[in-house]
Amino acid sequence: MNLSDQIDALDPGDVGVLGLPFDANSSFRQGPAMGPVRIREAYRSSSGNAFSEAGVDLEKSNAWRFLDDLSWPGPELDLTCVERTVDQVLSRDARLVTLGGDHSITYPIVRAFARRHPELTILHLDAHPDLYHVLDGNPLAHACPFARIMEEGLVRRLVQVGIRTLTAHQREQARRFGVDILPVDKWVTARQLEFDGPVYLSLDLDCLDPAFAPGVSHHEPGGLTTREVLQIIQEFKGPLVGADIVELNPERDWMDMTARVAAKLLKEILGRMLGAV
Ligand code: MN
Ligand code: MN
Repeated sequence: MNLSDQIDALDPGDVGVLGLPFDANSSFRQGPAMGPVRIREAYRSSSGNAFSEAGVDLEKSNAWRFLDDLSWPGPELDLTCVERTVDQVLSRDARLVTLGGDHSITYPIVRAFARRHPELTILHLDAHPDLYHVLDGNPLAHACPFARIMEEGLVRRLVQVGIRTLTAHQREQARRFGVDILPVDKWVTARQLEFDGPVYLSLDLDCLDPAFAPGVSHHEPGGLTTREVLQIIQEFKGPLVGADIVELNPERDWMDMTARVAAKLLKEILGRMLGAV
């Protein structure tokens, strides 16, 4: 079955997990294009089991599945192709988790989600606000997606957690767009996160401290622990309609430990979306 047929086989409420092996919008290093395959390998590794912490047996569940990686012609990410594919999933009343890829993929994904969910909130976990107007001449760089999303008014609210690299320009952009930034030094508890309406989770693995997740392009010390990110996934209040896990760079990883972190976060996201036992 090709990807399109796989998507058409999703039932309402099902969760598709789609790989987007793309990193040409990275500003510093390439590598995240290898992210999806490594996260799937880590998920399937026999060193663990398929239960979420709340007890959902992902192996037994028929309500989610890995889809084939998206492919497109040429080296540049075809934004319309991404959007169209996400549209196709959402038109099935299915839900979507995307594995990156660099963070530039979130913009076309959210364009499709916003059509389906006009009252969308994005919960964005990252060391970086990714609000640059343009980076190195590229308005679609992985440091810019949330500027594009906010300019187009795609979401009702953008809440950022883990941020520890605000420049004057990005502080100004955050003010201009009304972004709610919860800086990592003011972080208290996941329970403070409560949202009205549907939530899209965009999870850049560099929100974690490099001690927990070294396999990212931009090491930014002083980040969240794995347990803190798990608590956010498990405890924020509001319906989770979609998510992405981005910026795994296997070339920077040690012993696949960041791929394992990403696979664990994927399990908890799926566990939450599929419901407690
Ligand atoms: Mn980042
Ligand atoms: Mn990012």
